[in-house]
Amino acid sequence: MRTVYVNGDYLPENEATVSIFDRGFLMADGVYEVTSVLDGKLIDFDGHAVRLERSLRELDMKTPISKEDLLEVHRELVRLNGIEEGMIYLQITRGAPGDRDFVFPDPETTAPTIVLFTQNKPGLSDSPAAKKGMKIISIEDIRWGRRDIKTVQLLYPSMGKMMAKKAGADDAWMIEDGFVTEGTSNNAYIVKGNKIITRGLSHDILHGITRAAVLRFAREAQMEVEERNFTIDEAKEADEAFITSASTFVMPVVEIDGVALGDGVPGRVAPRLREIYLEESLKAAI
Ligand code: PMP
Repeated sequence: MRTVYVNGDYLPENEATVSIFDRGFLMADGVYEVTSVLDGKLIDFDGHAVRLERSLRELDMKTPISKEDLLEVHRELVRLNGIEEGMIYLQITRGAPGDRDFVFPDPETTAPTIVLFTQNKPGLSDSPAAKKGMKIISIEDIRWGRRDIKTVQLLYPSMGKMMAKKAGADDAWMIEDGFVTEGTSNNAYIVKGNKIITRGLSHDILHGITRAAVLRFAREAQMEVEERNFTIDEAKEADEAFITSASTFVMPVVEIDGVALGDGVPGRVAPRLREIYLEESLKAAI
């Protein structure tokens, strides 16, 4: 049984509780982060902590825990649960005011709820899917306009994942005004020749921590990076495509809406980027 963290306490998972009045439960009024663990160490903890603070600020929530304490909680959960490879899920909500009201509760009297738990995933870095590549479908992006805030409103991404499954695919890329925004839980890229193309940062997509690292490593390796919109038709004609996220790192995409990319197997760029990413982020893991 897992040991989880709730509002200052480390508890067995079956003893950890949150109020039914919690605004995360009633209104999806909360934010989250997922940090991966490799070799028992945290990958890009700092990036996740900085984005968490930004998400909270954008929603007028106070940051209830210092970065140092948050790091300590992450490390303690890794230790208590013996995680070598896996993820740490963190969620902070606006708390439980004891009733349901659209108006935000007074932060002086309603404390935020903080929950963290581990997900043990042995073999995370050596995933067979990375060798095979993923099949994706395209779906309309009907999410709200502040996708840069990492909120727990994940119903549509979850539905998108189910649409993909139903279509015999692994995931979905979302399309808005003809252009790909991102995957249901990842950032989206195409490769043309030696050029890596991915949508630029705005309120339209989540500013992926893995995205930032991968683009930095790509530039350091003298690969060309172009941050611009691309259509799903351009993607179908690309040499390669891939996704990035904290839990999948870099994952090749080999098929879009039934159209095979290149030879229908992972190409040259995505697997190389995965290698570089894993190597470099392990070096910097804490
Ligand atoms: N976009 C969306 C919509 C996501 O949910 C995620 C993962 N949470 C990402 C991109 C990738 O972000 P990161 O690299 O920080 O995991």
